[in-house]
Order: sequence, then C-alpha cells, then structure tokens
Amino acid sequence: SDRIMLGPLVGAIDQGTSSTRFLVFNAKTAELLSHHQVEIQQKFPKEGWVEQDPKQILQSVYECMERTCEKLSQLGIDISNIKAIGVSNQRETTVVWDKITGEPLYNAIVWLDLRTQSTVERLINRTPGKNKNHLKHKTGLPISTYFSAVKLRWLMDNVDEVRSAVHSGRAMFGTIDSWLIWSLTGAKNGGVHCTDVTNASRTMLFNVHTLDWDPELCQFFDIPMEILPKVRSSSEIYGLIKSGSLTGVPISGCLGDQSAALVGQMCFKDGQAKNTYGTGCFLLYNTGQKPVMSEHGLLTTVAYKLGRDKPACYALEGSVAIAGAVVCWLKDNLGIIESPEEVEKLAASVGTSYGCYFVPAFSGLYAPYWEPSARGIICGLTQFTNRSHIAFAALEAVCFQTRELLDAMNKDSGIPLKQLQVDGGMTNNKLLMQLQADILCIPVVKPSMPETTALGAAMAAGAAEGVRVWSLEPGDLTAVTCERFEPQINPEESEFRYARWKKAVAKSMNWET
Ligand code: ADP
Repeated sequence: SDRIMLGPLVGAIDQGTSSTRFLVFNAKTAELLSHHQVEIQQKFPKEGWVEQDPKQILQSVYECMERTCEKLSQLGIDISNIKAIGVSNQRETTVVWDKITGEPLYNAIVWLDLRTQSTVERLINRTPGKNKNHLKHKTGLPISTYFSAVKLRWLMDNVDEVRSAVHSGRAMFGTIDSWLIWSLTGAKNGGVHCTDVTNASRTMLFNVHTLDWDPELCQFFDIPMEILPKVRSSSEIYGLIKSGSLTGVPISGCLGDQSAALVGQMCFKDGQAKNTYGTGCFLLYNTGQKPVMSEHGLLTTVAYKLGRDKPACYALEGSVAIAGAVVCWLKDNLGIIESPEEVEKLAASVGTSYGCYFVPAFSGLYAPYWEPSARGIICGLTQFTNRSHIAFAALEAVCFQTRELLDAMNKDSGIPLKQLQVDGGMTNNKLLMQLQADILCIPVVKPSMPETTALGAAMAAGAAEGVRVWSLEPGDLTAVTCERFEPQINPEESEFRYARWKKAVAKSMNWET
C-alpha cells in the first residue's frame, strides 16, 4: 500500500477536566496529523463535591490512543513512526490506589471539589496568626481546597480503604499524570510511580526551591512520604507503554496542562504569558529561573524543567475556577442552550448584558481573592433581562476574571503586558475573544492551531534525551499563524463595566453575612 513518508511523529495524551484527547504531531513541522477525543463524566455526589472515575479516565486514554492509531492507518501513516508520547493533565486532581491490586481506592477528587473547606479552615487555624499564606514561602501557594494535599488528607481521614492501605504500605498517591504513567507503563506489573516537577508543584507537599518533596510540608499535612511518587523533570524517559497498539513507545514528557500550554505557546522567555480558557481559566507568566512570590494573590508555580540537567523555570499564575464551566452550567442547569457553542449566538443576539453581572463563584473565588466561602450571584436584573443577557453576562464574567488576573500580574511584574496569547476550548468563541480584547484594552492573539496544551506535551516528549526527534529551538517550527482581536470599545466604557463587575464580586463574597 502507499505509505506516506513523514519522519518521526510524537503523540500527546491531553487528559483534561471535561475530556481526554490523544493527538499525533509531526515532529519536524508541529503539524497535527490526527486525534481522537472522548468526554469525561463528572460526578457531583453532594453539593460542592466533584469526582471522576480513575478507571474511566484510563480507559478513555486507551480508547483515544487506539482510535487515533486507526485514523492514522486509514490516512496511510505508519504508526511505528510514533517515537515518543507526552502526557499533559488536569492538575491537582487526586487519586489513591492499591499497588498490589492496581485498583483505585476511591474516585478521583477533582481540583474544583470543595469538600475540604472545613479541613482547610482547621489547617489555617493551626498556623501562627491563622495565615492562609503560612506555607507560601516554600510552596508558592495559599492553603486552599484547590491543592492535592488537603484532598489526600480528606481521603486518609474519611475513607477506610485509603487509611488501611496507607498503614499496610499498599497505597500509592498520585495526580492524574502519575496514575496514567503508572498504569500505562505496567500498573501492578512494574508500573513506574512518578510525577513531574510541574504537577508536583500543585500538591502543596513540594518545595519549589529544592524541587523535591518537603518533609516539613508532609508533616504539616501528616502525610507519609512513602506514598508519594518520585519527582522527575518534565522531559525524560519515564517508562515504556506496556499494552495496545503503541506498546514499546517511551513516555518521555509530562507537564501539568497549564505548563504544557505555556510550552506549546513557546513562551520560553521571561515576561511571556498565555491564558488558557477551558473548564477554568489560567494565566501563566514566565518569570524565568527564579520563583517570584506574588504580592497580589497570584500563585508561584514551576513552569517546566525540560530535561534532567536543565534548569527549572517558574511562572506566576492566576487561576480562575469557573470559565467554560459556567457555559456548561447554562446548558445543564438552566437548559438555555443545548451545546456550549450555542452560547455565542445567544449572547450575540443582544450584544450586551444590559447591566446584568454574573459572578460564577460556584467553587468560591480563586485568584486574586482566594475566598472559599464566596458563592455565585447574578445581579442587576430588570423586567427587561432575558436569557440572552444572562448568557452575555456569563461570557463577560470570564473576561472580567481574566482582567483581574492581568491587573495582578502587571502589579507584580511592574511591566504591563502588551498583548495576550490565548488558547483552550472556549477560544473558539469569537464573541468572547472580542469581548476579552475590549475589556483588557490590549490585543488578544490566538494561534490557528488551538491544541497548544497537547503540542507542549509532545514537544517535551520529543525533545527528551534518548528520543531527540524534536528541537525546542524557537524558529525551528513552521511559522505559527495567529488570529488577532483588537480592542474596539473606548477604555472609559471598559473601565465603567469593570468597576461594576468589582461591585458584583464584593457582593458574592459578603452576601452570606
Ligand atoms: P478542559 O481542558 O478544562 O477540559 P477545554 O479546553 O476542552 O477544557 O474546553 C472545554 C470547555 O470550554 C467547556 O467547559 C465548554 O463549556 C467550553 N466551551 C467549548 N466551546 C465553547 C464555545 N464555543 N463557547 C463557549 N464555551 C465553550
């Protein structure tokens, strides 16, 4: 048969909150050749609880890999050209499993989950001055429901199976990257228990200066260090795939999704930044080889470490819990749209929120407030307000939240960003992108190949020692084409709406008291 000669290819597993994807790129041109995507079920067993089934996540990865391989074969592309696989994943989501049986001991507790709110309060009360930033000098993070350590603490306190497996030395803890790499490299038959520095930096057990687990942090959360995965760089061979069509291919890249997007957007220089609009919204600003501690509510996180002997680079991060998730809420909870894409038409039909403001603080507020007790509000309603205005206000909320991140970022760095590079599922929404440019008063730039998260993971995998099919030198790739959105409203109008938004945020934080 006719085989297309392409040279080396690299695959990327992109395990997100709402879906899993597997994508295959040409290592010479970064061209996306084929992919497959499977939705992931989220369970909401109680108010504020968000869980996923780790085995379903794993199955979705296998399914995506197999279906992509079939599609490549149908295109006449030989899958033996796939030389490496990278993993990018939803961060913080916590899994504990039994290393003898290979079975998860509880559902994965998803990053958005709020069940640890009382655990968090108890932990903060134990610190001198009841200070949520007590561990920030080591972790770069405030004590919050968001990070893995508190979720793991909850599992050990509340799930008998987890507690007894920890005591009998059978428990393994991991974020989704660890769970997948351990499972794909052999599971109970020799699977590799590891994570990378970027994922580790989201647990609150990791010291961002020493780049390793920190005994004092583990003591603070009372977590035995034996259950933690080994910390590796983001680009090195961790192990080989043990079953399926890609058996024998090395897994050689691992990056938390937001770090992967930063790499995929080629933000390798100090001062470069990107914003990803998925379930949540995450603005990362590269601060180079030094961790910068924020004075304005941002996180300090490891951006990437692209090789065992390469230095770690850091980022300031603004995290917003609810972005695309508010669109899902309009669909699933209000039923005013049938698909996420429909929100654009609905909102565009009015082109204004007509003074309505929607603060989707469903999981409290993350950056820059870190207020777990905040709850969502829709305000400014009149007799005239209809579902189109509410849809518009929901999109505008995503833009205002990003504006708050950017303001904090500009204050911390002292150098205002001149344009914003964006990606993620929501950036298909052109109305949202235009609104974002209007509300930030700077241009918004979107690459024409939107799968930057997967691209970043593929780049890390392809560049690893022992693989080396992908060069990370910028300019090596075929020129990336972009779509630009220029601000179109006047800045006074923009400031007026932003000031109103801030009033709405204040109400979302205090309405209970
Ligand atoms: P994740 O990586 O968090 O799973 P994705 O980048 O895949 O997220 O984006 C999916 C999210 O984007 C969903 O929350 C969905 O509601 C939202 N979304 C997708 N398409 C659109 C659209 N055209 N307009 C608005 N929101 C959208």
